[in-house]
Amino acid sequence: MTHFLIVGAGAAGLMVARELARAGKRVTILEARERCGGRIYALPVQEFGYPAEGGAEFIHGAAPVTRALVREARLSLLPSGGTRWSARSGALSRDDGPPAHADRFYQALAELQTDLPIAEFLATRFPGPPYAELRRSITRMVEGYDAADPSRASTLALRDEWMGEGRGRQHRIVEGYGALIEFLASECRKHGASIHLGAVVTAIEAAGGRIAAQCRDGTVVEGDVVILAVPLPLLSEIALPPAAREKAAASADIGFGNVVKMLLRFAAPWWAHQGGHDLADMSFLLSNATVPTWWTQHPAGYPVLTGWYAGPKADRVASLTEIELVDMGLASLAEIFELPTDRVRGQLVAAQAINWGNDPFARGAYSYATPKTREALAALAKPDSDAVLFSGEALYAGSDMGTVEAALASGQETARMILDRSS
Ligand SMILES: Cc1cc2nc3c(=O)[nH]c(=O)nc-3n(C[C@H](O)[C@H](O)[C@H](O)COP(=O)(O)OP(=O)(O)OC[C@H]3O[C@@H](n4cnc5c(N)ncnc54)[C@H](O)[C@@H]3O)c2cc1C
Repeated sequence: MTHFLIVGAGAAGLMVARELARAGKRVTILEARERCGGRIYALPVQEFGYPAEGGAEFIHGAAPVTRALVREARLSLLPSGGTRWSARSGALSRDDGPPAHADRFYQALAELQTDLPIAEFLATRFPGPPYAELRRSITRMVEGYDAADPSRASTLALRDEWMGEGRGRQHRIVEGYGALIEFLASECRKHGASIHLGAVVTAIEAAGGRIAAQCRDGTVVEGDVVILAVPLPLLSEIALPPAAREKAAASADIGFGNVVKMLLRFAAPWWAHQGGHDLADMSFLLSNATVPTWWTQHPAGYPVLTGWYAGPKADRVASLTEIELVDMGLASLAEIFELPTDRVRGQLVAAQAINWGNDPFARGAYSYATPKTREALAALAKPDSDAVLFSGEALYAGSDMGTVEAALASGQETARMILDRSS
């Protein structure tokens, strides 16, 4: 019986494992961390007062695979509503929507035939001072939302994201994304898959039609097919057999951005009535502060603000400690609300700041498309003689790249491809 080794127990790896095990296949999962979930990272309820998320938090738009799994796991969804505020023009005001010339920008996007990086598109089509604010606004969106480097990010892929069906309304899982992972892991075990935690795979070897996964502690696990469901940057850290190594080289043409996410729990939602405004239903808060983007848990009332520092600049704070990152966040909030930093700090009950680029088993936050990504995905999807397959959010050719939906859908696709071949 074919023995499938799955490296990585994130959303993608667990999904492949569940589908294969459910179909009666022999499955072993090797996971480097002492927990499942990868970039889905449930923080302790006692620390934040609810199942807070150190990694993925929202379900964006339709996300059919995620929503089906949420229903299967009998979890509940909460739409994220509320009002977006902005402090970008100095004083706090309701976010006033798209920048000047947005219509011309979308028109030019719609007419674009040949892909190029978004920074080049902006520089060539929207040059000079009249478009400075438009360029700033688009760049901020690419860096902030997609965690992408504008000098690499594909304009056509961004067009699909902004002008296609879109990510639409956002939801959160009330019980947390961690509950979805627990469900998947329990499904894997129920169907006979074994999950080995603390198994850091350093090399895959292929010989005589067999596969061997070498672990850092010297353990060797043998199988017939291996599915690497690790984050993109890890593909170059695991030694691979020649054909797989050649294919994995294509991953250099897929972008992978970084994020520092910080969660600050306060004694009370002190921001709700600051500066003469009613901010009680605030959802997002956009600013020009060092940590520019913040959100609340609205409509849930937990007194937690989440700060988001994303894109190339997140790599430039790699040397900052967690305390220094939290200080950076507190100083940004003080600046936005025109308060002394110590007053904001005085309300702090718990804090966590995670620079995902420093995480040895993620090396960043999530992927984005460059103009060469389509070709890279096609190369990575080609079957090879070494029986090494790739799965994960970055390997998903659909429109949700970089999301949990992409990871789950990629896992499902990989499993279907294997099951179709073997039937
Ligand atoms: C801060 C942050 C916020 C995000 N917000 C959202 C959001 O709101 N909505 C959304 O949809 N998506 C969001 N994402 C993206 C989403 O989390 C990922 O796209 C998704 O979880 C990736 O799943 P995956 O299975 O492909 O990879 P991962 O979750 O990274 O799983 C890969 C697994 O491989 C393991 N591994 C790595 N190296 C080895 C090795 N050598 N040996 C063995 N195991 C190894 C890792 O430990 C990990 O468990 C966010 C990500 C981050 C970082």
